[in-house]
Amino acid sequence: MRIRDLTAHLEKLAPLSYQESYDNAGLIVGNPNEIITGVLVSLDSTEDVVEEAIQRGCNLIVAHHPIVFKGLKKITGKNYVERTIIKAIKNDIAIYATHTNLDNVVNGVSFKIAQLLGLQQVKILAPKSDLLMKLVVFVPVESTGQLLDALYAAGAGEIGNYSQCSFRVEGKGTFKPNSQANPTIGQTGGPMEEVEENRVEVIFPAYLKNPILAAMRKGHVYEEVAYYLTALDNENQEVGSGAIGVLPQEMVETDFLAYLKQKMQVSVIRHTSLLEKPIKKVAVCGGAGSFLLGDAMRSGADIFITADYKYHEFFDAENRIIIADIGHYESEHFTKELLKDYICKKFTNFAVHLSETPTNPVKYYY
Ligand SMILES: [Zn+2]
Repeated sequence: MRIRDLTAHLEKLAPLSYQESYDNAGLIVGNPNEIITGVLVSLDSTEDVVEEAIQRGCNLIVAHHPIVFKGLKKITGKNYVERTIIKAIKNDIAIYATHTNLDNVVNGVSFKIAQLLGLQQVKILAPKSDLLMKLVVFVPVESTGQLLDALYAAGAGEIGNYSQCSFRVEGKGTFKPNSQANPTIGQTGGPMEEVEENRVEVIFPAYLKNPILAAMRKGHVYEEVAYYLTALDNENQEVGSGAIGVLPQEMVETDFLAYLKQKMQVSVIRHTSLLEKPIKKVAVCGGAGSFLLGDAMRSGADIFITADYKYHEFFDAENRIIIADIGHYESEHFTKELLKDYICKKFTNFAVHLSETPTNPVKYYY
């Protein structure tokens, strides 16, 4: 099994095109054609994590946070980023990061928190728009099934919990082959043809545009396919920031905070004033999530659990919601489990280890 096989699988869960513009997710160090000897899953990749990979016979680190964000102009070992890269390259260790692209998908970082808290009816808190396209294609009635199969296989027609979603109407298509044509129906240089055709419509994520068009051409019987593509304004409910869900039973605020502390293995929670009403609806965002407070309030959440809150930002709760900051590392450390479980479900021919190197740079004195 090569590194590229594993990263292709990870990108089915968290496509690289869903990362934020400032991010640097993907294969950061290493050759995608190398055979995998073992995988070490970690939240961060540091020199100590590279050392752990060496000790455990893993030549691939799958991390949440990219070790390199901005470009490196010199690699001399003057800081931990450069030293980590040098150590990884010297020891043939590849480093792959799945970062904001994993934050931005259903079953990603925030969904893992929701799962740990036992939330139900979990949805993306702030879905992104402009990520969907629609394909309209005209196909002879009898060849419609074959075309749709090809489009579905390439990833078209997935809406929420439904696959193979399409719409069609029947009508008449016309065409007149010229002397260069090699028509499936009719003759080269022949008369105008009238064919019973379906107008078939499917939607798909915009990043799949090229594979979808390739599948359409392969699955279609015509030499020249008549189609059009439209970029959609719709929100993609499967892609966006944070998650929101409801507890099976409402809880008293202090009981919920104790529950949160225990489930997320947190030593301390920084939070705004309690509001003396029960907690039922819970919004979460792994890592720095203060930008989602408005979405959490609009969604009617009783509490917003995230990290990296600044002093002045806590005032924005305005006694309308409880903000609970559980720490960046603590909010994301179960991401390791998420990645390990996802990899192990598909691959059994190499070992996948959870890193045991403590990488949280924040310590608590209490
Ligand atoms: Zn993070």
